[in-house]
Amino acid sequence: MTGQSFLEPRRTVAAILVMLTAMLCLAVLLPATAVASDGLRTTDDPRRVPLPPRDDSDAPVTVIRGGTLLDGTEGMQPLADAVVVMRGDTIVSAGAANEVDVPTTIDYEIDAAGLYIIPGLIDLHVHFTQQYGDDFTRYTDSDAAAAIRGVIKTGQLLDAGITAVRDVGTRNDVAKKVKEAVQRRLIDGPRVYWSGPIIASRSGHADEITSTATGRPRADDRSHSVRVATGPWDWRLAVREQIRQHVDAIKITAPFTREEIAAAVDEAHMHGIPVTGDTFGRYTVWAAEAGIDSIEHPLDMSSDVIRAMADNGTDFVPTLTAFYNVIEYGYPPAGIPAGGFFYTFSRRFELDHEQHLEMVGLAHRSGVRIGVGSDIPFENEWRYPEDYYTELGLLRDAGLTDRDVFESATRIGAEILKMADRLGTVETGKLADLLIVAANPLDDIQHLREVRWVIADGRVVRTPDDFR
Ligand SMILES: [Zn+2]
Repeated sequence: MTGQSFLEPRRTVAAILVMLTAMLCLAVLLPATAVASDGLRTTDDPRRVPLPPRDDSDAPVTVIRGGTLLDGTEGMQPLADAVVVMRGDTIVSAGAANEVDVPTTIDYEIDAAGLYIIPGLIDLHVHFTQQYGDDFTRYTDSDAAAAIRGVIKTGQLLDAGITAVRDVGTRNDVAKKVKEAVQRRLIDGPRVYWSGPIIASRSGHADEITSTATGRPRADDRSHSVRVATGPWDWRLAVREQIRQHVDAIKITAPFTREEIAAAVDEAHMHGIPVTGDTFGRYTVWAAEAGIDSIEHPLDMSSDVIRAMADNGTDFVPTLTAFYNVIEYGYPPAGIPAGGFFYTFSRRFELDHEQHLEMVGLAHRSGVRIGVGSDIPFENEWRYPEDYYTELGLLRDAGLTDRDVFESATRIGAEILKMADRLGTVETGKLADLLIVAANPLDDIQHLREVRWVIADGRVVRTPDDFR
């Protein structure tokens, strides 16, 4: 036996081991990244964990008749005298009255004559746990207080017709518990996608020892709402810790090094989880080049930054309203003056509303997908839902058409959530999140204010009586 032939079986074993390892890796990655094949039910989140088969033939049937359907698909045409049939949490058919089979047994029927049927709205940037303006001077915070605020906010969101939200920075696991409470139907609320506490560098945004807005010392050490990471391997570890908690997305903030952001994005993508970032200036360029999925806020942007986003397919959630509020009004209950950020070491640039609009317009013209996010800090107890509509108006000011804004608030929002196959349009097979509004939002996006019915996960959660 020559040395070479003696080695042969070992090579074969090695080759088999390599193949097995590759197959194992694929098996781990597939549930997170692949769309389920026909018949296989999976969770309604980007992780797409397979679920056991379910018989929903007895699930309640809801039928909408007589409205004009704006289904939210690309190139949609308004469809008069439409019918939408839902069984349980799923749209089983949607189309013209003479083409849709309506079941004989109907549990709930809505007459939408003269009204418009549209997909549920999406807010890509909320914080269920954000403290209120009054809290800063009167109340200390805790997870219990944060959870109470989160539950209140679920109701405010439904009132605005928002049926899916992404929480991009929470206190410990509060947003996850809000999500579970909605899923378990302990409370009515929108579908929740959550990111866990923010990942930041020491002294970076979210880890400041003084408030970004007021400059006053923070009441506590922030460890409940930020995971500080140092160096690429620790940024990877921070991402792994979040994935272990079953987050739907990763939220990072600037500043960071190029190596840190590249490591975090790579790690998250290996698990099929998207990353969004609160970044500015060159950090946005580095994040885009690292393959980050989306950028929050219009901060310190230039045409070079927008080009980097366009070149790398980076989505954009401008949250214009949050900064418009800071510039125009400040937050008087929290002692925050109008005009911009003062006293903060992590945000050393000026806020300029006109420049924000200009950059959002440029991004849109450059092909960057624009999502709708409100990010209402401090006073969401009374600014919401008004500020969601303000955001829609500011996107119009930036140069998007009413139809563009409608798409941003629905289908594009679902795309940014990595949920476009389940959410964002009214189509057969999609999850049953939809609204009925009194006037056509394609004529004027502010008509979205005239919501009459809200259906979330197949359940009627708001009726015209709730809006009187
Ligand atoms: Zn935010």
